[in-house]
Amino acid sequence: MDEKFDCIIVGAGVAGLAAAMTLARNNIKFLLIEKGEFAGAKNVSGGVIWGQDLAKLVPEYWKDEEAGWDRFINHRRLTFIDEESAFSLDFKSRHFNEPPYSGVIVLRSKFDRWLANKVEDAIAESEYSMDSFIATNILVEEILMEGDKAVGIRTGDEKFYADNVIIAEGVNNLLTRQAGLQDKYVPADHILTGVKEIIRYERSVLEDRFQLNGLSGMSNEFVGYATRGVEGGGFLYTNRDTISIGLVLGLKDLRDKELKPYDILNDFKAHPVIKDTIRGGEVVEYSAHVVSSGDKRGIPEKLYKGGLLVCGEAANLLMNAGKAIQGMDYAMRSGILAAETIIEAKSKNDFSITQMKKYQGNLNNSYIMKDINNFQDAVQLLHNPVMYQKVPSLINHFGRNFFTIKNEPTKKSREMMGESVKAHSSYWELIKLGLKGARSL
Ligand SMILES: Cc1cc2nc3c(=O)[nH]c(=O)nc-3n(C[C@H](O)[C@H](O)[C@H](O)COP(=O)(O)OP(=O)(O)OC[C@H]3O[C@@H](n4cnc5c(N)ncnc54)[C@H](O)[C@@H]3O)c2cc1C
Repeated sequence: MDEKFDCIIVGAGVAGLAAAMTLARNNIKFLLIEKGEFAGAKNVSGGVIWGQDLAKLVPEYWKDEEAGWDRFINHRRLTFIDEESAFSLDFKSRHFNEPPYSGVIVLRSKFDRWLANKVEDAIAESEYSMDSFIATNILVEEILMEGDKAVGIRTGDEKFYADNVIIAEGVNNLLTRQAGLQDKYVPADHILTGVKEIIRYERSVLEDRFQLNGLSGMSNEFVGYATRGVEGGGFLYTNRDTISIGLVLGLKDLRDKELKPYDILNDFKAHPVIKDTIRGGEVVEYSAHVVSSGDKRGIPEKLYKGGLLVCGEAANLLMNAGKAIQGMDYAMRSGILAAETIIEAKSKNDFSITQMKKYQGNLNNSYIMKDINNFQDAVQLLHNPVMYQKVPSLINHFGRNFFTIKNEPTKKSREMMGESVKAHSSYWELIKLGLKGARSL
């Protein structure tokens, strides 16, 4: 492998694989390097890939019998919990049932491996079937620069050269920092830690319990006591014969409150409502991974240099404005956009900074940056303790009163709501929150 590549991609996560697929289909000679034993070996996710970009990468993926995805979403639930109760917004709809689906649940080690195989197929059909590669078990230690332009990478004593490098290394973005594109220290309140367990059931038990039909699936997000007062939230997703259950927790808040993620997850699983939902299964995997908060201030100002582009969570491209965590779809789209920039650069034989800058322009015009910019207030709102502590307590206080029938005169709902507001917040605080919410959503 001593010849020069058109492009070297670092990291075979969703972003790197999406870039690789796009390059392979457009006859670009590339090397994709992954430090894990195989694509997906190091990857953790809750995880739903939202939207329909997957169908762009693997047309009609839903027909693939060896599919790397587990279930499609047709049932969504948002649950507010306090110490003893859970109050849910629940939405199920037939319109979710037709492909291309609006979201698919994946287990990353399986999904990334499957997508990597699809990239191998695309390489085999390209003009560079013998010259493009996915190389695993290799850690990229350095981006090689000549002046201000990236010219390749170094791993151990070996160097590989290319006209362009795409960094798709994920949230722990050491190479992006080394290239001078990200501040050395990202503030702890811009980062969360994710902890997740996979629990196995008899498939029929899982399907009956969660009302699943064929490959339909459910996503359930949790706000409130799930995190024991720490900033963040919880999730539960149904896979084929397992569930993924976990939390994302603000690192700074965890540190300030001196709590441990695994203790909070155990408490969440022991919550009276959750305990009933997950009973009887066997924990088969536990994992933890850092995740961006979706705070725009974490995104590097520039995502390019001469011959260099950064995509996916390496660029902190992620959003969680309350509806869903969107990291994998952002990784996929930004990987595609990075690859398209390189395809154009190669056609013009121009790998200058001016050409690379177009990537950032295209990213700004895409739904990724439009949504990140539009919903930044909502992201900030979720970090407000009123939102993740008081509101869930208030809603559940009201729920307990509203749904409990006593053989005595019943209060009007308005009066019950007044009592709940008084117990957990104030009308003034809620009006302020409501105004912020109305502006931000
Ligand atoms: C608990 C949890 C739940 C989540 N839930 C969801 C969800 O439901 N939906 C969603 O869309 N997103 C979710 N996310 C976020 C999502 O997982 C990420 O945004 C997404 O994986 C980012 O993709 P990526 O390709 O940029 O990075 P990654 O998936 O992290 O891939 C980076 C790859 O680069 C490799 N690598 C890194 N450094 C090097 C190096 N120096 N040399 C070689 N290889 C290297 C890594 O091994 C890895 O394979 C969740 C995250 C967590 C932690």
